[in-house]
Amino acid sequence: MIFIFGLSSKFKALPSRAATCQYCQALVQHYPDERATRLTLFFIPVFTTSRSYHVTCSNCGQRSTISGRQKKALNR
Ligand SMILES: [Zn+2]
Repeated sequence: MIFIFGLSSKFKALPSRAATCQYCQALVQHYPDERATRLTLFFIPVFTTSRSYHVTCSNCGQRSTISGRQKKALNR
């Protein structure tokens, strides 16, 4: 019997939010996004192996990694 395993990466943009940038100190829109890596079996996603969140400043363009907890705080 043959099993076809693989990993697929999925990118999802999240709703933007105004926040103070840690680099340029300006209160501007920030664009959070989520990147999830999933294990696939016969090209069908089975479960998520890793998930990371990033936020991009619209003023200076700096991109930083945030934790899931920080992402939840940004959505409030
Ligand atoms: Zn900035």
